[in-house]
Amino acid sequence: MTGYDFDFFVIGGGSGGVRAARIAAGHGARTGLAEARYLGGTCVNVGCVPKKLMVYASHFAQDFDDAGGFGWQVGPRTHDWPTLIANKDREIARLNGIYQRVLEGPGVTVFRQTATLLDPHTIALGDTRVTADTILIATGGQPTLPDDPGVKDHAICSDDVFHLPRRPERIIIVGGGYIAAEFAGVFHGLGTQVVQLYRRSLFLRGFDQDVRLALAEEMRTAGIDLRFNAIVTRLDRSADGITAQLRDAGSLTADCVLYATGRKPNTEGLGLDRVGVALSDSGAVRVDDDFRTSVPNIYAVGDVIHRIELTPVAIAEGHALADTLFANRPRGVSYDNVPSAVFSQPPVASVGLTEEEARRRFRTVDIYKTSFRPMRHTMTGREAKTFMKLVVDADSDRVVGCHMVGHDGPEIIQGLAIALNCGATKAQFDATIGLHPTTAEEFVTMRTKAPDPGEAARQAAE
Ligand code: NDP
Repeated sequence: MTGYDFDFFVIGGGSGGVRAARIAAGHGARTGLAEARYLGGTCVNVGCVPKKLMVYASHFAQDFDDAGGFGWQVGPRTHDWPTLIANKDREIARLNGIYQRVLEGPGVTVFRQTATLLDPHTIALGDTRVTADTILIATGGQPTLPDDPGVKDHAICSDDVFHLPRRPERIIIVGGGYIAAEFAGVFHGLGTQVVQLYRRSLFLRGFDQDVRLALAEEMRTAGIDLRFNAIVTRLDRSADGITAQLRDAGSLTADCVLYATGRKPNTEGLGLDRVGVALSDSGAVRVDDDFRTSVPNIYAVGDVIHRIELTPVAIAEGHALADTLFANRPRGVSYDNVPSAVFSQPPVASVGLTEEEARRRFRTVDIYKTSFRPMRHTMTGREAKTFMKLVVDADSDRVVGCHMVGHDGPEIIQGLAIALNCGATKAQFDATIGLHPTTAEEFVTMRTKAPDPGEAARQAAE
């Protein structure tokens, strides 16, 4: 018990904040949480959840096409965008309610207001003031658009996609990260003509090079106009839509231009400078290994600290912090072997090191990879391939990276993340009996090392 109104006050009701608040309250801390917008944050409202629902929606087009090979006759089909959006909104509203109840259950006091720090222990909520012993900043991030001419006037960001009144017939997507690749697949599947523009020579920077190449090939085979070294210099409204001027490559016109060019931490208007919470050069709240900011009683977790911007990471951080502060169970979060997926079509899923990272870290690296036509497509005639790759530290025989481009990749890689965390060796992978017939069994049946193309060839490819 302290002399403050709350033992713990969380600013931000997204994945990290909600987890921290409810666990802290469960440990007996008098807990408050402020969220002005929507409970569940980016993930539930304008991120993972609605995105995945839209990925499901868009995949039906391929399934209808493929059904013929199995004897089905699928009649004419149309897609009704407003129905998708309305049903998606209903599901999001249901989840918002669950988040509210998850907080109320253990007794968290929820303020549906903007919170501003007045001093290290005082928070303004409109005209109300509350005090707290410990404060957590969990305000997440938001999409960011470049300052190039016309972009802020004419482009939309990922938040806007979820509320478009109608599906565009033509879309230009700028960016080569998770969000750009995911929406390229969504819109293509729903019938939109998609051009994706990435400014460097190969998208998904940071992923394994083979994975990046494999996804690019699959997306192009599927009919997405994916262009690299394509730099947009300005956007203008034209009679026919929105025109993007490309450096060195003319112009393109579409009904909608989506910029998926990264996200920035939400730190404005919180009063952080007033209380002395330091930010890093990237604008993120700077924290130590215990998530403590430069002000000793103020902590931060999730996208606002800009470490790994993934929902399960924010949840792990919030949970560890609450256990540390209020259950006398000090613990941190391991950022090793965090699996991630790009829900492109086909999806990409990875855990551990890329080949490039492993070669920098280990003396000798063995690579096992395979690319094959999935069984389903032997009947559909679709030109689609699945790519799988294992990266092994030859000296210890430990598998240090698993990568996949193909249907069900995210479902498969989650299990392999456990194996990597347990330190599984290639010999143990090999000793595991495959589950037949699946795609996943390829991960335990790859026996032939890929020849090492040599450093010179690798550098040329990069
Ligand atoms: P990313 O940082 O992943 O990608 C941003 C992309 O935009 C990069 O390709 C970058 O190019 C490009 N870019 C940046 N600035 C410009 C510019 N001025 N002009 C043209 N292109 C530019 O951001 P996202 O917005 O896709 O996603 C943000 C984060 O959210 C991700 O990193 C991820 O952590 C998380 N996320 C996770 C998802 C998942 O788990 N499935 C889904 C969606 C998001 P360059 O490579 O040259 O920097």
